[in-house]
Amino acid sequence: MTHREVRQDADGSRVYADGHRYQPVPPEERVNAIRRPDDPRAVRFHGRWFLPLDVLPEAARSLPETRPDEETLEHRAACTCPVCARPAARILWRRARRRGYK
Ligand SMILES: [Zn+2]
Repeated sequence: MTHREVRQDADGSRVYADGHRYQPVPPEERVNAIRRPDDPRAVRFHGRWFLPLDVLPEAARSLPETRPDEETLEHRAACTCPVCARPAARILWRRARRRGYK
């Protein structure tokens, strides 16, 4: 791998900056197969090639509405709403009772 300019001649041979010529071996005669995907965006990580995922653009993403666990203390004691059904709600109620909240 070089960071200098590599010229490619019409016959497919590469000419490096120091004048060295290299004729690449045709794919059918190669010993090691080319595993790099044709996609120029492919990235090599730990010897494996990865292609970027097609994900939603940032503007089209949205997060679900969240409600804090502490909201359960404002509800009645035997409430069955989703916030009060969480395991964290039971812990908060127990802690509040220990501190004399109710
Ligand atoms: Zn509730």
